[in-house]
Amino acid sequence: MDCIVLVKQVPDVSNIPEDAWDRDKGTLRRAMLDSVLNPLDLHALTFASRLTAGDPNARTVFLTMGPPMAREVLVECLARVPGEAVLLTDNAFAGADTGATAYSLACAIRRIERELFDGRRDYLIVTGMQSVDGDTAQVPPQIAEELGIDHIAYAKGFQPGPPLTIRRIASEGIEDVHPLRRPVLVTVTACTEPLYRSFARERDAFAATIHEWNARSVDADPARIGLKGSWTQVYRLFSPSEDRPKTCEHLHDPAELVTRIAERYHAAAPGAAPDAEAAYRLDGREPTYRGELWVFAEREGDGVRSVSLELLGKARRLAEGLGERVGAVLPCDAAGDRPAQLIAAGADVVYVLEHPLLRTFDPIAHKHAISDLVCERRPQVMLFGASPLGRELAPRVAYACRCGLTADCTRLEIGDFAKGNVNRVGILKQTRPALGGNVMATIMTTDSPGQMATVRPGVFKVPTLDPDRRGEIVRVPVTLGPDDVGLEAVPVESFASKVSIRDAEVIVAGGHGFRSRSDFETYLRPLAEGFGRLLGASTRVAASRMAVEDGFTTHDYQVGQTGQTVQPRLYVAIGISGAVQHITGMQGSEIVVAINKDPKARIFNYADFGIVGDIETVVPELVRATGAAAAVAS
Ligand SMILES: Cc1cc2nc3c(=O)[nH]c(=O)nc-3n(C[C@H](O)[C@H](O)[C@H](O)COP(=O)(O)OP(=O)(O)OC[C@H]3O[C@@H](n4cnc5c(N)ncnc54)[C@H](O)[C@@H]3O)c2cc1C
Repeated sequence: MDCIVLVKQVPDVSNIPEDAWDRDKGTLRRAMLDSVLNPLDLHALTFASRLTAGDPNARTVFLTMGPPMAREVLVECLARVPGEAVLLTDNAFAGADTGATAYSLACAIRRIERELFDGRRDYLIVTGMQSVDGDTAQVPPQIAEELGIDHIAYAKGFQPGPPLTIRRIASEGIEDVHPLRRPVLVTVTACTEPLYRSFARERDAFAATIHEWNARSVDADPARIGLKGSWTQVYRLFSPSEDRPKTCEHLHDPAELVTRIAERYHAAAPGAAPDAEAAYRLDGREPTYRGELWVFAEREGDGVRSVSLELLGKARRLAEGLGERVGAVLPCDAAGDRPAQLIAAGADVVYVLEHPLLRTFDPIAHKHAISDLVCERRPQVMLFGASPLGRELAPRVAYACRCGLTADCTRLEIGDFAKGNVNRVGILKQTRPALGGNVMATIMTTDSPGQMATVRPGVFKVPTLDPDRRGEIVRVPVTLGPDDVGLEAVPVESFASKVSIRDAEVIVAGGHGFRSRSDFETYLRPLAEGFGRLLGASTRVAASRMAVEDGFTTHDYQVGQTGQTVQPRLYVAIGISGAVQHITGMQGSEIVVAINKDPKARIFNYADFGIVGDIETVVPELVRATGAAAAVAS
């Protein structure tokens, strides 16, 4: 089977020199950063190399879009996996957002299919989960949308078959997916061993064919590429320290840490996390966009995923200043009680899209149902939770509706924008971390009929549900046929938790920093009990995904994107690095404490208090200190 591997040259975000920051302008001088192959693409290389191994007729084509120097990453790929390569380069591509990038790459893929594969369509397009500079994961699903093909996200392995079976991480669990047609696009997550360069291959790589194509040669429509073809625009970049949710106070003495935690815990009123945003006012001015503000209602078992409820609460507040209604869009095979839940959380109207083919998640079927409704009713805003499913679906819906989309927002506000002769009133300002969390970017939608965003779970609080709220339920006819379903998914392992850690007031969580299951038990449980006694609080032990994969505990206790979202009054993270997928599940916690031996661990950016130190030294001292403090308190 042939393979196209999409790769990207990115700035080295793991090593940003201090003087690369322009503190006056609040921007980053990208030219001062080293350029490297997107590290997450290495997993796609391994995947592709295993896929084509053993088939002497299979062709592997590496494709990248970028400036002429992006040729370097193609040579690097060829030094690891033999094949040929295409460099898509043209000044006309500059300034492209994800939609314009996806369109340009799709044009090149069409030419590869025509000319290098002689029209054969039995191929896979493989790429990394996301690029570490953009971090959006939007380009692959948008390429799939442009090409009208299926997309399998978060693949972690495969069986060549037949039939080809791809194992992937989905919102509800691990699944084995059979693509029913080809080509299909697969994004690979960090679950395979990266390939290493060999000296002989390195020599061959320099001799390999690298085709250089421009916009005209791939028949790209000039109106749909580069800045001109983009539906979003970054209008402010700033340092995360300006927007850092927490400023970590570093302490050295565990006893002092325990005292500070107890003081803060008793001082803070339960649930008192005010949404400090000032209400927006139109004051009689004509807004740039009109229409309802919608939230995609993602199902979880018989109910609705908490991120959808969080977004309804946020959409309510955004809608007030604009004087518009809030809508929830619920694709399902049977709605059950969900519309009532959505109304209780803040929806004025629930659009129920019921169809048997919407029982499980197929990206094309869901996209069809939702985008038909969006194109008909034209909401001004549509928000999706940045769950694995939301990150896969939102880019396709946005692309199909020709709408701008911003990924993984951590802040949303309604505001105005005026510069030169551009004057926008009451638009959605979407702020998100970029460049591996090294900068914050505020983005607005341009030249597009609606504004769309995915939002990290746990950024906003679940609103208090009001069972007496009244709303409208609109049943929307859905027309879908067998051609709208291209994937057959078989569940392998469920993420559904038998234990809820959501109700605990205190959570003590451990990560891969622990060495064994018995260490996990020896250190974590006594500390959780110690805080429980000291604070008179209900406590739970929890874990990062790596700790679950290490076998320290079960998935029932996992916090994060594919685990549970928790918002306890106190969250203690021990030996956890602070990967975005973990932060997503705990950033709504009131007081966060981090213990980590690495002073640069990202978890400290989200913590109120921290100790840089080793688990084996710090945790026993913390246990003793909680015991001593509890004895004094009684
Ligand atoms: C689709 C997808 C979904 C995911 N969902 C989740 C999710 O729901 N939840 C989740 O947590 N992750 C999730 N992940 C994985 C996530 O990307 C990270 O790999 C994971 O969170 C890392 O776990 P960790 O912090 O325990 O391990 P690591 O990143 O390995 O960090 C271990 C930390 O321990 C510290 N440490 C080591 N030894 C010691 C010591 N002796 N004393 C003190 N500190 C020490 C290290 O400095 C390091 O910071 C997901 C990934 C993908 C691709």
